[in-house]
Amino acid sequence: MSQQSQVMDVQEKNGVLQRTQQVIRLALRKMGYEEAVYELLKEPLRILTVRIPVKMDNGEVKVFTGYRAQHNDAVGPTKGGVRFHPNVTEEEVKALSMWMSMKCGIADLPYGGGKGGVQCDPQSMSSRELELLSRGYVHAISQLVGPTKDIPAPDVYTNSQIMAWMMDEYSRIREFDSPGFITGKPLVLGGSKGRESSTALGVTIVLSEACKVIGIPVAGSRIIIQGFGNAGSFLAKFLHDAGAKVIGISDAYGALYDPEGLDIDYLLERRDSFGMVTNLFPNRITNEQLLIQDCDILVPAAIENQITEANAAQIKAKMVIEAANGPTTMQATQILTDRGVLLVPDVLGSAGGVVVSYFEWVQNNQGYYWSEEEVNEKLEKILISSFHKIYETSREEKIDMRLSAYIIGLKKMVEAMKWRGWI
Ligand code: NAD
Repeated sequence: MSQQSQVMDVQEKNGVLQRTQQVIRLALRKMGYEEAVYELLKEPLRILTVRIPVKMDNGEVKVFTGYRAQHNDAVGPTKGGVRFHPNVTEEEVKALSMWMSMKCGIADLPYGGGKGGVQCDPQSMSSRELELLSRGYVHAISQLVGPTKDIPAPDVYTNSQIMAWMMDEYSRIREFDSPGFITGKPLVLGGSKGRESSTALGVTIVLSEACKVIGIPVAGSRIIIQGFGNAGSFLAKFLHDAGAKVIGISDAYGALYDPEGLDIDYLLERRDSFGMVTNLFPNRITNEQLLIQDCDILVPAAIENQITEANAAQIKAKMVIEAANGPTTMQATQILTDRGVLLVPDVLGSAGGVVVSYFEWVQNNQGYYWSEEEVNEKLEKILISSFHKIYETSREEKIDMRLSAYIIGLKKMVEAMKWRGWI
């Protein structure tokens, strides 16, 4: 990434906090709450910035900056992933922690939102360096986190191996085995069956319900997915298996588009562990071009700020399901809604991951593990109910699905704060 586009990326990321605050404010006003409630919820209750020294393979010490934000713990411990990315910013981590609060509220989980991030480029680091960074991060935030305080999980460019190192480090610091400290672990360390594909399964469940309400059958529908990582690749597989035609996919290098349908099994076989595959093909188009190609359903499953004022009017999809966090700006949400495009917001579209993370934590706490069918059945029940609550509120109140989702997501948290006497 060029220096200029890195600067732009960081500036855009800073906008995500502001727009999250705007939706929270609108939702609280719609619910009739006083300004003091907004004052408390417009920022995380706490955020820790840490500096993590790592002795790199060449012998030099490199110092990395990391964050852990806890938006609100009125309902229960905070919960949310850790992102390893060169352009992680404090503002972004704050916004991500607030989105986690909404997801937990929507799915009625006993959590508030948290999130973490470390500024680093994992693709250019060795496994040894990544292990030291993961352990160093846990060491630096260990006072703030724990199975009953704040429970991390994977996010962009972190995976089950990183979760395993983090859990091991936490267990060493606390001097007891703490599987419930973190979710997204490998199965042998107390991971949950179904966790790896849970975000994508959640998107599939929500997408199927949305298809029913707007009258498009999933089988035969033409789908474009931006991003071919954990969320995007499993999603492509699930939708392909359900008979949909996945006609476009992309990664950070570019995009592949074929109106006749892509060979998803082949692409899945060839993708690397960072979700890269398009570099193997010379006939790529850009991510920008992919988003405006003809299709029925568009699923942004990569990064923030992809659908903006600049391209929203050109989107041809009848439905946009946000699997990524924050892919659509406020103006773009308005443009799509005015054009009659059904937009299923991130806080609902990508809630499958945190729901199964919650199941993992429950299983760790009780020491009894469920079958994948049991996990998936429970996930389906929660998300179908959440979808309909949000959809119906949006129709009744004549508001977009994002505002409706925030209203549902905030309700329990505000009630809990009232009972605690915070407001
Ligand atoms: P990942 O790291 O596994 O994959 C990210 C994908 O996005 C890769 O294919 C990468 O090449 C692509 N990408 C990166 N930069 C890009 C760019 N500039 N343009 C287009 N593509 C680009 O990440 P993931 O876990 O699949 O997460 C993707 C999104 O879904 C993120 O917004 C994340 O916060 C969200 N999400 C993930 C989970 C989860 O459980 N994995 C849960 C909830 C939300």
